[in-house]
Amino acid sequence: MKTLQDINFNGKKALIRVDFNVPLDENFNVTDTTRIEAAKPTIDKILADGGSVILMSHLGRPKGVEEKYSLKHIVQTTSKILGKDVKFATDSIGSEAQKAAADLKPGEILLLENLRFHKEEEGGDVEFSKNLAALGDVYVNDAFGTAHRAHASTTIIAQFFPEEKCFGTLLAKEIDSLNKVLNNSEKPVTAVLGGSKVSSKITVIENILDKIDHMIVGGGMTFTFIKAQGGQIGQSICEDDKLELALEILEKAKQKNVQIHLPVDVIAADAFDNTANTQVVDVTKIPDGWQGLDAGPKSLELFDKVIGESKTILWNGPLGVFEMENFANGTIALGNSIAEATKKGAFSLVGGGDSVAAVKQFGLEPKMSYVSTGGGAMLEMLEGKTLPGIAAILES
Ligand code: AMP
Repeated sequence: MKTLQDINFNGKKALIRVDFNVPLDENFNVTDTTRIEAAKPTIDKILADGGSVILMSHLGRPKGVEEKYSLKHIVQTTSKILGKDVKFATDSIGSEAQKAAADLKPGEILLLENLRFHKEEEGGDVEFSKNLAALGDVYVNDAFGTAHRAHASTTIIAQFFPEEKCFGTLLAKEIDSLNKVLNNSEKPVTAVLGGSKVSSKITVIENILDKIDHMIVGGGMTFTFIKAQGGQIGQSICEDDKLELALEILEKAKQKNVQIHLPVDVIAADAFDNTANTQVVDVTKIPDGWQGLDAGPKSLELFDKVIGESKTILWNGPLGVFEMENFANGTIALGNSIAEATKKGAFSLVGGGDSVAAVKQFGLEPKMSYVSTGGGAMLEMLEGKTLPGIAAILES
């Protein structure tokens, strides 16, 4: 894997694909700077070497040029975070960008306008990629969030740098963390899969069954498994067309010696509402008119034990409807169990959408070994797919 450390950037212009797709408020202030901060180590290393930096990113989903999606709104915040003035080019290609890039001196930073102002970016256009490529000497991809897209700046551009290309620090860390969980893992390996649907996680489940020892199933997915086994799930969420599939997964897991742990009790509610009446019931005996919205206390005890004995933990998907305060306890408790195991030396990776939101919301992020920055990209990696943005760096 070619990383930043393998290249000396002295006197070179590094063209870095970053993910600065940050949220802005109505006054165009950046409300969450995580993604800009995440790119800092890569930028710092290049500047420290004596190189200069050209940053390219998308912001939102503009249809052509739309002022509200201009990256000019983030220049000030980016300058503050990087501790250096960031110059701005009002287009990502063309004469102004070319001049700004050519004039760039060692130690300086240039941010290009939103790549998606050109439809050629998402179209993966070769000519557009070539024009971008002409701006720099070395291509660095540090945008994990878009690594699963074969866009011009994430993938196609790499062919114009047969030798001079590498992963940025953030992207390298993402790849490394997933490898630690799925390929070079210390056993026992436990995957916790929650969230709403079996259908959206099935490819992940199939891909990881060969690599894990335990699988904890939680969240809305639970009830498709419980119903398939003959349990009564009341009004709980269920995919009736996936009952067969659920049984097949259980059978496959058995063949592969993977222990599946389903909740044994749930917090059942008489409505999908934070103020609904609740009761703790056996997961196989949920009364009519009630639905399971969170894992119950016995389940959490069971999960805590499995997690406590694990050396490697992957967590994707919440254990309940954590967006509602009264059904967040299972997700918080599980997060605490993983935090505890991590403290004792286990490696924990949280990735893929909602569980990342949950660990952030409940202040658990610093207690995990690694929290992924890319929802869709992480899910595709868990599915065993080769991401085009990663493949493009590895190809020579
Ligand atoms: P996913 O995007 O598939 O990871 O699903 C995340 C969503 O699953 C969250 O918005 C949760 O509120 C939801 N969820 C978790 N547990 C349940 C449940 N028992 N019933 C309904 N939705 C759930």
